[in-house]
Amino acid sequence: MTITVRIIRALVLGVLGAALPLATYTAITTHASASGPYENPRMNTTEALYSKSGHNITPLSDEKIQELAKDLTDEERKIILNEGTEPPFCGNLLDNKKDGNYHCRLCKLPLFGSNSKFHSGTGWPSFFQPLDPQHVATEEDNSHFMSRTEILCARCGGHLGHVFPDGPKPTGLRFCVNSASLEFFEAGDDLPEMAKPSTLEVAYFAGGCFWGIEDRYEKHIGVIDAVSGFQGGDDSREPTYREVCTGVTGHAESVKVTFDPAVVSYEKLLSWFFRIHDPTQGNRQGPDVGTQYRSAIFTTSDEQYEQAKAFLEAQQKEGRWSSRRITTELRRAEDAKFYEAEEYHQDYYARKGGTCAAPIYPED
Ligand SMILES: [Zn+2]
Repeated sequence: MTITVRIIRALVLGVLGAALPLATYTAITTHASASGPYENPRMNTTEALYSKSGHNITPLSDEKIQELAKDLTDEERKIILNEGTEPPFCGNLLDNKKDGNYHCRLCKLPLFGSNSKFHSGTGWPSFFQPLDPQHVATEEDNSHFMSRTEILCARCGGHLGHVFPDGPKPTGLRFCVNSASLEFFEAGDDLPEMAKPSTLEVAYFAGGCFWGIEDRYEKHIGVIDAVSGFQGGDDSREPTYREVCTGVTGHAESVKVTFDPAVVSYEKLLSWFFRIHDPTQGNRQGPDVGTQYRSAIFTTSDEQYEQAKAFLEAQQKEGRWSSRRITTELRRAEDAKFYEAEEYHQDYYARKGGTCAAPIYPED
C-alpha cells in the first residue's frame, strides 16, 4: 500500500480508540487558508485516495467544484466556499432528529451520522465524531483574533465549521457545523452517486518477483491496494515463501490488486502488466529463474476472463511481444487460491527504498 494511504490509515487507527485527541485532527492539516479566488485546499495530490469506509476521497479539481457550486444558493456559497458562518439557531438542521446521515452539501461525501449528533445549546448542529475520520480534514484558523481549528470536507475542501475540545464522551470533541454546509439524507433514502462508497474490484497478476510488480501497481492511478502473495499451485495447504522458492508447491509470486473500476479499467491494468514485465520468458523473469517467476493472470469474473483472453490474443498478434511466444498463463482465481505472503515481503520497496530494476516499457 502507498505511503500516503498508510499515513492516513495510521491516523485512523490512532483515532479508533475511546478518545479522539484534537491533535490527531490538526495532524492531517494540509494547507494554509486560501484567500481570493476559491481553490480546493485539499488538491495536493494526483493519487486516488480511498477512505476506510470505501469512499473515493481524492481531492476534487477546482473545475469540478465550480460545476458543483452552481447548485448552491448565495448564502451557501458564502459559507462553504468563503468560510462564512450562519447565524446561530437559524440553520434548518439544528433540530433535525431523524435517523440518517449528514453529507457535504457541495460534494455529497457522508460526514456525520445522526447517532453522533447531540444538543450542544450553541445554536449550530453539533456532533461528537465524524462518520469516517478521513472524511473531515482540519486547518488551523487564527482569524477573528481567535485560535480555532477549522473543519473541512476532505474531498472538496468545503468549509464546515470548527471543532472544539469541549464535547461529550466518548471523544470529548464538538464538531460545530453550519446547517448550510450539510445535506441530510434519511435512512433508506436513495443516495446520489457521489454519496455512495466506490464499488471496488480485484485482479491478480504474476510477473516475476512480486516486490516490483506490487510496487508498480501501487503507483497506478485507481489502484487502492496491492498485496504480494502466492497463487496457482498446490492448494492443499498454505505455502510459505521458502516452499514456493523450491518450486515444489507450484505457486507463482502473484499480486492482488484492488482497484476502482470507475477510475481505472481492467484493460488499462492489463496493458500496464505487459509494460512492467516480459511475458515471453517462460519460467523466469530476467535473473530470477524458477516456476514461481512465471507470467500469469488470475481473473475474478467472466468479464475479466474474456477481456484478458482477448488482450493476450491481440498482444500475440500485434503487440510489443508478437515476435515471440507469449507464455502468460490465464486462469480463473476461483481455481487458484491467493495466499498472502509473509509481512516482510509487503510494501518492500516502499519500506526499504529503491525500485525494481526491471524496465518499464513505453506504451505500445
Ligand atoms: Zn465535500
